[in-house]
Order: sequence, then C-alpha cells, then structure tokens
Amino acid sequence: MSTLINNCLSRNNFIILLMSTFLVLPFNLFMNEITILLISDLLISLVVVAFVLNLFSFNRYVLSIVFSIFVIANAIFFYMDYFLGVSISLSVIMAIVQTNSKEAVESLSVISYKSIPIALVFVILPIYLSFKFKLSSEKILDSLKEKLGLLFIFILLIFISLFTNLNKLTQDNDPRGVRYIYLLLNINTEQYPINWVYNTGKYFSINQGNFTFSDIPTKNKFSATQKNQPFNIVLVIGETARSDRFSLGGYKRKTNPLLEKRENLVFFNNFYSCYNMTIPSVSCLLGFKKGKDFVANLDKNLTHNVESFVPIFKNANFDTFLISSNSYKPRDPMFQRIKEINSITYLAHSLGNKDEDLIPLLQKIIDTENKNKPNKLIILHTMGSHYKYSARYPEEFQKWSPICSSLTDRNVTDCDKKYLDNEYDNTILYTDHILNEIMNVLNNTNSILIYVSDHGESLGETYGDRTFYNHGTLVRPMPVEQRHIPAILWFSDMWIKNFGDKQLNNARAKKNKTLNHDFISYSMLDCAFIESKFIDKSLSLCSPVAPKTVSTSIDDSPLPKNKKK
Ligand SMILES: [Zn+2]
Repeated sequence: MSTLINNCLSRNNFIILLMSTFLVLPFNLFMNEITILLISDLLISLVVVAFVLNLFSFNRYVLSIVFSIFVIANAIFFYMDYFLGVSISLSVIMAIVQTNSKEAVESLSVISYKSIPIALVFVILPIYLSFKFKLSSEKILDSLKEKLGLLFIFILLIFISLFTNLNKLTQDNDPRGVRYIYLLLNINTEQYPINWVYNTGKYFSINQGNFTFSDIPTKNKFSATQKNQPFNIVLVIGETARSDRFSLGGYKRKTNPLLEKRENLVFFNNFYSCYNMTIPSVSCLLGFKKGKDFVANLDKNLTHNVESFVPIFKNANFDTFLISSNSYKPRDPMFQRIKEINSITYLAHSLGNKDEDLIPLLQKIIDTENKNKPNKLIILHTMGSHYKYSARYPEEFQKWSPICSSLTDRNVTDCDKKYLDNEYDNTILYTDHILNEIMNVLNNTNSILIYVSDHGESLGETYGDRTFYNHGTLVRPMPVEQRHIPAILWFSDMWIKNFGDKQLNNARAKKNKTLNHDFISYSMLDCAFIESKFIDKSLSLCSPVAPKTVSTSIDDSPLPKNKKK
C-alpha cells in the first residue's frame, strides 16, 4: 500500500498534477458559478489535461515548454472571455488564425498596465516555476510504476466525478445529470483549457477537409435581362457597424452628414445580421440559406454546400471584381464563396491602408470598359469600424474626442464609455465619407449600391451582471448591439434616369420593416434584373412583393432591452 501511495505521489506525478490544476482550476472558477456539476466537470478536465501533460513528460524541457504554451494561451483566451465577453468558439479561432500580426498587436494594445501584476502571477510565475522544478529522471521500472500510480489517481478522480453526478441526479432529478453519466464520452468542451484546444483542433480538422460547393448556379435557370446600357451592381460589406450610430437612423450625433444629403438613398432602420462574427456573417450573407438555418449548423455550413451569388453573375456574363481592405486567407470560408471572381485586389491594412485607398481602385474599374462583359459586379469589403477604432480613420475625422487611445489608460474595459463612444462614432463618420466617395465615383454611371455591415459591436453595454465589448459573444440572447446593423440601398442618378425609380420606391416601402442578411443575396440578383424561379422576391429589397417575415436573432429569443440608454 505504501509503495502504491509512493508511486502515486512521486515527485513527477505531483508536478504534473500541480500544473494541470493550475491550468484548469483558477480560470474555470472565475468564469463559472460553483456547482456540484462544475466540480464534477473540473475533475474530468483535470484528468484530461494531466493525461496530455504526461505524454510530454519524457523530457523536462519539453514538458515545461508545452506547459508554458498552455499558460500563455489560457491567459489570452481568458482575457478575451472575461474582460471582453468574447466566448471561445470555432469562429473565434478562425478569426484569430486569420488575423494578421498588425491586428494582433492592435488587439493586445488594449491590455492595461494594471494587468501586469495579474500577468506576473498567472503567466510569468508559473512558467518560471515549471522550469525551476526539475522532473526526476528515474529508471524505466520506477517510471512504469509511477505511470500506474498516475493512472490510479485518474481512476479515483473519475470515480469521484461520477459519484457526485449520480448523487446530484438521484437528489433532484436534474436532467443534466443524465448527460454526465456518459461523461467520459462527453467532456465539457466549454472549460479551460479544453475549450480552446478543442476548437483549435476543430479548426484545423475542418480546414484540412475539402470544401463542397452547391449546385444552385447549374441546377437552376437564370437569365440576365438585357438592358440597352451597361450597368454596375456594387455590394459594400461594412465591418462592425452599428445601426444605432448612424444619424440616418436617428442617432443624435451627426455621423452621416454626407449621406443624409443624398437622394435616391434608402436607410433600412430594422436590419439584423445573421451572426456576430465576420466569417460566419459574410459567408451567410453571400449565400442563399436562411441565416437562422445557417447558424443552426454553423460549422458544417461554413465548409459544405458553399454557395454565393458570384457564379450566377459570372454565368450571366458580368465582369466580377473584389477589392478588399479586410482580411482574407485562401482557406477562409468567405474566400471560398467568392474565389471565382475575375479580379481580386487586397489592400493590406497592416501596411497602414485605410478604406479610402479602395476608392482609386474602384475608379479604375469603373473607367475600364470591357466590350465583351459590359455589366459589372463589384464587391468592396471594408475595415469600417473594426477595433482598434482610431486606427481606422485619418486624424481629420476625429470629430469627437477625447478618445480612449489618447488616454494613458489603454484598457478598453477601463476606458470611460463616453471616450469609447467618441472613438467609435468617428469611425462611422469616416464610413459616411467613404460611402459618399464611392457614390461620387458611381454617380455618372448606371449603378446600384447595397451597403450592409457584417455584424454590430458592443461598446460597454450591460445586461444583467455582464458588460459586453467587441463582438462574438456566445452568450444568448446575443446583445442586440452586436446584430442590429446598418443597411443602405442607393441608386445613381443615371440609373434612375435610364431604368426608372420603381425599385427605389419599392425599397422605400420596406424602410421600417424587419429585415436581415437573408435579403442580401436575393436582392443582388433581383436588383440587377436577373430572372429565375429560384429568386425569392419576398427577400428582395428592389421588388414590389411584401417582405417575408424574418428572424431578428439567431435564437428567436426576444430582443433584450438595453438598460443603459
Ligand atoms: Zn466583422
């Protein structure tokens, strides 16, 4: 018996268990209410993490390096989760992997000097200790005994975990308990550090897999209505813009001084995004699935049956263009939806490019005539209001100040909400300028423009006991600020003159209706005079058909009331 205890609590096993406990306990205890089920889950997580660390214990340096990686990643994800309200999910991993280094530096700049002592205790100290305390190198037989001892501890922990669950189940018939009877197959993937390891693994597994493409363009008959003059249909995808910050929608600050003067422009007051992160939202708005169905099976829909309106325009002999200051990577589900576009141009905002640098490129496209393909589909993907807000606009657009970044305290969560609002509103003022410039380029051509943001943004609104920043939270109901987005339809003077104002009037009738991303792809086709039985006219902004009743949220729960208004 004493040898068994000796083997269990050998120095090496002790170090591994200590490391695992550090990786599992503090982070999860901070994030969750302490319940019997949590304790039960924690024990299982502890076993899983200890098992993984044990695999690397053949060499003390390898173990320390693996542990350090876990500590640093845990700290970064915990920071996003706890302070910014960004829950760890597959989409977050996608966003991180596809973020370039400049963006990463921008995001890290929100970390306040106040977090230095916390970082010392939770990052530097454990890493230092892991290198200081050596594993003892033992003979093979001892090491085997030691592993058996560790196995014994695992079995003990699993047994306690099962016991607490069964106890809970018989005590108050908690149906959740049933799930945990199979807990060895049902590891709670929302716990640190399993949450980010699991989602990173999932990211690489789906990213290694092949995308499958939908047969919508070939299975359905589409015909382009021949007009006597060439025309352009332009989609501007906004980034992180909130509807309630557009003065076109009634915001008290004049954030849209230029667009307010535009004729032939409709601002849709009640427009909602299908998700609260870039890749799912943009993938969703480019395709034809209902947003609600899309996100109900998000992981699969991002890579399977990939669909968009782009190939339909190509088949209809449109010349197709993408200019983007937003980030794309080849294995990105957004890119997979538009990769057939004839001409793709990226502007690296990492090199300091701003959205205004898209304008000369657009001008060049408009100035170039293609006799074989007279009509153009142009997608502009902007950086809009993506954090860091002040990096998005040139100084002359800093109408409202002070802003957070100009203060010594740079932590977004510590920043006064008024300063954060100032900084954010300046990005909307700049977006007003960008859209107005785009319209200037298009006005002497037959052009129609649809502008829609990918999702909204939380700027320190509080719901219950949680305050939200940024976007991408998995908390439901999702804060309304993350999905109530601006959407605009605009027609050039030439368009109205040559093709009439019927579409404009049809769109005006929908101004106050509840609409969402489901409307974008059908509108793109319908507004550009493409005909097909496939096109659902009740999902077109240009059609006289009354709009379909659509969901405003991804879970159909009622819109939460904003307490701080
Ligand atoms: Zn976005």
